[in-house]
Amino acid sequence: MKFTSLHTLSLSLLTTAAFADGAFYGDPPDARHPWAIHDMNRAQPMRVEAGSFSSQDKPGTPPSDATILFGGNPNELEKWQSDKQPAEPTKWEVKDGVLQCVPGSGYIRTKEEFADCQLHIEWSAPSKVEGNSQGRGNSGVFLMGQVEVQVLDNDNNPTYPDGFASSIYGINPPLVNPLRAAGAWQTYDIIFRRPIFKDGKELDAGYITVFVNGVLTQDHTPLEGGGGHMKRSSPRAFPDKGPLKLQDHGNPVRYRNIWYRALPKRAIEGGDTSHMSEAATTTKRAEIAKTIREDAMKMEGTAKMLRLFESICYTENTEAKNNALLMLGSFITEVKALPTDKIESQKGEILRITKALRYLTKFKFVANDLEAKKDLEAIIKAKDWEPKKK
Ligand code: MG
Repeated sequence: MKFTSLHTLSLSLLTTAAFADGAFYGDPPDARHPWAIHDMNRAQPMRVEAGSFSSQDKPGTPPSDATILFGGNPNELEKWQSDKQPAEPTKWEVKDGVLQCVPGSGYIRTKEEFADCQLHIEWSAPSKVEGNSQGRGNSGVFLMGQVEVQVLDNDNNPTYPDGFASSIYGINPPLVNPLRAAGAWQTYDIIFRRPIFKDGKELDAGYITVFVNGVLTQDHTPLEGGGGHMKRSSPRAFPDKGPLKLQDHGNPVRYRNIWYRALPKRAIEGGDTSHMSEAATTTKRAEIAKTIREDAMKMEGTAKMLRLFESICYTENTEAKNNALLMLGSFITEVKALPTDKIESQKGEILRITKALRYLTKFKFVANDLEAKKDLEAIIKAKDWEPKKK
């Protein structure tokens, strides 16, 4: 029982420390990270309602932020066109909620163009097994119309490994073969990042990760130019976006449940994911500091003071710092003027402010010999308020 209660107590103290104000807690922002560790000023992750998984009998539902390219409705053929110039309506067919390749009618492409994405697509090779190697149940999923994730019935069907089902065609074989038998539904979950070039220089090679029926088959595989048939490709710039294409390779392969979610920008292209450039970090830190100062202006008293102090952990700002120091001076004067028996009422404030000042001096946001800090620490010592270390 004793252990349990102690455990609960330390847990609740930790939670209180983490959630009470968020500030003055983890390591501050640095040159490549605009946020502090455990920073409550960082936006909460956007809410997405998860979809459901597919069964063989029934396709699942997409997550709430997905763009549906084919969900089973014949009208959705309007989202696709033949991959010809000029484009024509596709001759591929929708039957029983399934999009089917009509051999000889040609590739199809989405009207919509996009780039970096999480793509979900399900396919099924004809259950009547015909042909072998590349001639059996062949189709393909072309990201941006350029990189083929191979679709092929490789159930007991050897072929060149860099043209195997879920290979990056002409680039890299899958790690394993988790295919179901011909006729069954196969699921591809693909994470695609296009190559990024600037002034002819490769900033990011571009990568594909693929799960087949929930099993990893491509692990962040570099695109090396996107691959292709017979010819070795080399790293190259991709356009900003392109359509998704599906291949007609002469087999009536079926598709269902096709959707994607656009992925956020990488740090290298101005996104605010971790490890940003120093310039982008500086800009972001200034932005965060400004928001905090604006927030501080809506506050009063020590809350305002602490928020102003918090802002200088992101970007130096003499006005904010001097304002906070002035407010701190007033607080100390008030505390010192209190009769000894009344000082108890300020215990929480004193501890909270001291914690902030210790953080601010530790990370050199304010001078280490700050008189106010010494004053508050003297009170804490005299009152024996220092939290006991276990
Ligand atoms: Mg193919």
